[in-house]
Amino acid sequence: MPTRERFFRPQGSVARPRTLVIHHTAIEDTEQSNTVSKSHASKGYSEGAYGENTCYHALIGKDGTIKWNRALSERPPCTRNTEVNDSSIQIAVAGDFTKEEPTERQLNSLTKVITMLDSIYNFQRIVGHKNVSPSSCPGKNLMNKIPLRNNEVALVFNVTRYYSPIPGQLKYFNGSYKKDVEINCGLYTDEQLRKFESEGKKVRNGIVMDDGTAGDCVHAAAVSLKSLKPMTVAACPKEYPIGTRVKLEGIGIVTCLDRGGAIKGNKIDIWTGFGMEGLRNIISSRGGILSGVIL
Ligand SMILES: [Zn+2]
Repeated sequence: MPTRERFFRPQGSVARPRTLVIHHTAIEDTEQSNTVSKSHASKGYSEGAYGENTCYHALIGKDGTIKWNRALSERPPCTRNTEVNDSSIQIAVAGDFTKEEPTERQLNSLTKVITMLDSIYNFQRIVGHKNVSPSSCPGKNLMNKIPLRNNEVALVFNVTRYYSPIPGQLKYFNGSYKKDVEINCGLYTDEQLRKFESEGKKVRNGIVMDDGTAGDCVHAAAVSLKSLKPMTVAACPKEYPIGTRVKLEGIGIVTCLDRGGAIKGNKIDIWTGFGMEGLRNIISSRGGILSGVIL
């Protein structure tokens, strides 16, 4: 445990922590402390006040042991949200709670740590890592057991939109079906086209003549998006697990259901629909830098 002095006398001008961030280690092993310290050292995290490089202030082991790694006056960068890091205490629970359940002992220790820290700092927010930056941390099986407080943290997203053009539309954004497919979906690769041909389909000029599809997302959309509502599904970076819901200003709630090569960082690419409806939704909706919260 940190000494009382470390609790009550933050060094220098360190900001009073306003947020408590809960993490998991995403490792299923029993022994974790060394593994996490080594892994964080290799990622460049500095050595904490207690001689380990683990980013989190404390790590709660599988058996409920609470291991302190940093003085509470430290503000380690355990998330990609600098503003939050600079005003947070960060606690991790050992395990991968996207798959396994936290143990009873871990939950008891977590409650103890949260109650103790909250009695000192009276946190404005108690959040999971995923509430403040793109991550699956701390996993749904732990997330639903955290006493969250004001966890809808406003984040900034770079929002783009794409639609699924269909042949013979009244109008195309870029003048032609093929051009719109190319920009929204990417055209089929030669390999994909050869496969269609081997299946007996007629291919001409990059377009599968039988169903009129020309690009990857048109084909994927035809299969998977048909039953979904435009403007409610999106391609998200890999840090957002499939199924993550994001509430965006002026747009509403979108669910991450897809990936994309160019979808990285804080980018969210919303699917606006098929044909003219999709085109109209692109024109009438807002993109660019929008604020939103991860639900
Ligand atoms: Zn985390």
